[in-house]
Amino acid sequence: LPFCQLLPKVELHAHLNGCVRASTIRELVHSQQLSSLSEADIERITSTGHRSLADCFVLFDAVHQLTTKHDTITRITREVIEDFAAEQTTYLELRTTPKDRPEHGISKRSYMAAVLAGIQQARQAQPAAGMLVKLLLSIDRRNDAAAAMDTVALAIKLMPAGVVGVDLSGNPSVGSWATWLPALQHARQAGLKVTLHAAEVANYEETHAMLDFAPERLCHMCVLDEALQQRLWASNIPVELCLTSNVKTNSVPGYVDHHFKQFYAAGHPVVLCTDDSGVFGTTLSQEYAIAAASFGLEQQQLIELAARAVEYCFCSEQEKQKLRQQVLDFREAWQ
Ligand code: 5GP
Repeated sequence: LPFCQLLPKVELHAHLNGCVRASTIRELVHSQQLSSLSEADIERITSTGHRSLADCFVLFDAVHQLTTKHDTITRITREVIEDFAAEQTTYLELRTTPKDRPEHGISKRSYMAAVLAGIQQARQAQPAAGMLVKLLLSIDRRNDAAAAMDTVALAIKLMPAGVVGVDLSGNPSVGSWATWLPALQHARQAGLKVTLHAAEVANYEETHAMLDFAPERLCHMCVLDEALQQRLWASNIPVELCLTSNVKTNSVPGYVDHHFKQFYAAGHPVVLCTDDSGVFGTTLSQEYAIAAASFGLEQQQLIELAARAVEYCFCSEQEKQKLRQQVLDFREAWQ
């Protein structure tokens, strides 16, 4: 683990509201005195054990009940950035779903302004001052076509502020691909990159349609048949793999059986990510350490994994050059 903590890493798959510190959640529950959340609920939110994917989405809705103020959104953004920076994350692509919550005086635009304020605050202090932070705006699968298009319009507007792409996430059993396709196409035309949560559950038709779209990255890809596996490998699309998330949601039987092993052996581009560090009680360093222990990776292979991850970032070539150099410097200092 100490080696993995020192390794300069990039995090490409972290959901803002999934990364809230347990201590912050407890504090928010007590300060907001939410009668709708019982002690048992709090215990459920802050325990990091196994739970079904369906239960995770109930949990996210509970966390969303706590993040209903602009100040809170700014605070959790700052804290999440600080937490990643503290473990030698050199680049963070943070994703979040802009929310219209008129009952709390929040619009998608003001929600994003609060997130940007959090990034700004984090930049002003160590340890996050040296870390590069970019944003992906998530379309929730519960969104209809108009809401998806609105999120993309906002993402385009915020490109100068550091939004580099769009993500499709939310409960994989909800909604249908055709609903969000026009918005995703619009994002691409505007120069945004696209990453898709795919194949978290068996839905071969949708996964084929996603591969037809050919996003810049995919996430999870847990449930594939032979034909999809072959298509994925032929596509060479990098896959964000979140070991602990997949194990804790029972999407895979266990760490050693995780498809990382197969993808890595086949030379398919993969990047280790946390997904929801708060909900699953993990860190990026821990994910690297788990990969090392589960798949027998040597330190040189971990450095190589971290180096290759830089190539899949959605930032500019110039920014990537800086990130490459940080891994090279580490490699030299370590040898
Ligand atoms: P937020 O976008 O509110 O900042 O972060 C939480 C949201 O991210 C959840 O409500 C859900 O839409 C999405 N999310 C977080 N983790 C996962 C995951 O493992 N799978 C999928 N499909 N969506 C997720």
